[in-house]
Amino acid sequence: MMKNKAAGKSNKDHFASTLANLSVNREVPKSAYFLLLLLYLLVNSATRHLSSATDMFFLYGLEIPKTMLSGVFASLGNILIILLVILFGKLGFITSCVLMALQFPRLLMAIFMAHNYATIQGIFTNLFTLVASVIIFMNQRRLKTYQAKMREQAITDQLTGIPNRFACFELMNDLIDKHERFVLVSTDLNNFKSINDTMGHEIGNEILIEICERWKAIASSPDAETVDFLARPGGDEFLLVIRGYENEAGIEKAIHRYQSALEEKITIEDCDYFLNASFGYAEYPNDASSSITLVSYADTAMHEVKNSAKNDRILHFSQDLSKIEQNLATERKIRNALENDTIFFQLQPQYDIDHKLRGFEALARMKDADGSMISPGLFIPVAEKIGLIDKVDLSVFRKSAMFFGELLKRTGADITLSINISVRHLMKNNFMEEIRDVLEKSGLAAKNLEIEITESIMIDSIDKALEVIGEIKDMGIKIAIDDFGTGYSSLSYLNKFPADLLKVDKSFIDEMNSGESSKQYVATIISIGHIMNLDVISEGVEDESQLKTLKEIGCDYIQGFIWGKPLPPEEADKLVVAEFGTI
Ligand code: C2E
Ligand code: MG
Ligand code: MG
Repeated sequence: MMKNKAAGKSNKDHFASTLANLSVNREVPKSAYFLLLLLYLLVNSATRHLSSATDMFFLYGLEIPKTMLSGVFASLGNILIILLVILFGKLGFITSCVLMALQFPRLLMAIFMAHNYATIQGIFTNLFTLVASVIIFMNQRRLKTYQAKMREQAITDQLTGIPNRFACFELMNDLIDKHERFVLVSTDLNNFKSINDTMGHEIGNEILIEICERWKAIASSPDAETVDFLARPGGDEFLLVIRGYENEAGIEKAIHRYQSALEEKITIEDCDYFLNASFGYAEYPNDASSSITLVSYADTAMHEVKNSAKNDRILHFSQDLSKIEQNLATERKIRNALENDTIFFQLQPQYDIDHKLRGFEALARMKDADGSMISPGLFIPVAEKIGLIDKVDLSVFRKSAMFFGELLKRTGADITLSINISVRHLMKNNFMEEIRDVLEKSGLAAKNLEIEITESIMIDSIDKALEVIGEIKDMGIKIAIDDFGTGYSSLSYLNKFPADLLKVDKSFIDEMNSGESSKQYVATIISIGHIMNLDVISEGVEDESQLKTLKEIGCDYIQGFIWGKPLPPEEADKLVVAEFGTI
């Protein structure tokens, strides 16, 4: 493979120059020094010329001697001298001293030879500028030493002496500003915590220092094909910025060198340690365009590698991983919510077509740590996947039934509470016991309870499902087929299914008024429902035109924002009391 141009130079030089070029370390460019010098020489020559001029110039009709301008230019020259000292430290100071020293013979000659006593003022101005330069320079030097120390600390990891997280972000941001392609690798040592716990932090630190030495040698090795920058953000984590690679294989080859460096045992105080690490990486600009996102993506890939059973220890980030990460976060939230019993419910009203209250659907709700709602569309599928849906269902069922049982007793209303039950939950052996237990404790009559089962999932395990559903029906509980039309609706299965209510999915209601065939589709579902002796409710009804069409085609019930959004229990309570009063 052709050696990369960027890697041609010794990597050691690159490491040092990369650090020197970080924006925190960047000095004023040398070109500015020459520009200031040139400006000073021009201003100085103009001062000299003007001081001996005898003619006048006109400004707004006023006649002014040109010699007066020489003072203005002399002051400008002094400002440039001070700027040189401020911006260029020692170099600027020496240059200023030389420039001013060169002025004195000319000024002295003007006084003693040409008897031009006006120049005495110039001598003093020069002397004052010189003193000011010395004071500024001394002060700058003190500050610079202090600043250099601070800067060094700000970009260096104290334990290993390599650049830290801040330095790594500085470099990434600089590269992003220059639109330069690079890869960020996030690395974490495997099982390092157990070494720390069993052998103590001192040994842990020694190991980190040793690994760092090995990796630093690789990062600055002159025969590398890429330009690498190693940083330690903390703990057993390292970050690598890799540039100058040609393709994916080049990236993996570069990372592999760091991986191989751990193959040799690490010996500390006569004890041998064998370590390995997980590497995840993300590329700018292909995977992300900001340094923060790159780090988060590289971390995601690294964690995926760490948690996987595979031997492969290097992984490129992909969007699928982001989903896995999000699901993991959601899983943690669900577990927390169940542990702390913070899952709660809202009640969405259902009405008959004449706007008379039929009942409510209980919908699960969960809040994030910051108080914002997490959509059930996000957490219900995760709960299904990790086998916690029965606990979520049961929590909503128990809480809403307790509330509803008391509400019906107080108002005498004969309305329905619909709960969503996942088929996974339905299949559990103790499902019937749970139902009986909740009904008993809440005082809710079986006839006032309806269980919604999603059609698409149910069809997979129809026989077992039918058995349980039969038992539920025998108890007098109603059954609704949820999201009808989204699964593999088959008439033969619908025929076998002892449901009471068909819920037409919102997606059909959304489309219904977009054309005659969409409207006919909903009309047909309603007709089939009626032929099968089922009531039909439309979900997600949002506007008057949908309501009008549904009335025309004979829909029995309505659930949707048009007549009611999901409500907190207190609001639902008010609604029922307003309609039925209290006993
Ligand atoms: P679903 O059972 O079909 O519930 C109806 C969903 O449609 C609810 O969304 C409701 O807020 C929403 N909706 C109703 N009317 C309208 C409308 O007019 N416009 C719009 N834009 N949306 C409307 P939500 O609460 O986000 O629930 C989503 C799904 O999560 C539910 O769909 C259900 O499948 C599932 N779910 C909710 N709670 C539970 C639960 O306790 N257990 C189980 N297993 N699933 C649940
Ligand atoms: Mg539902
Ligand atoms: Mg639905």
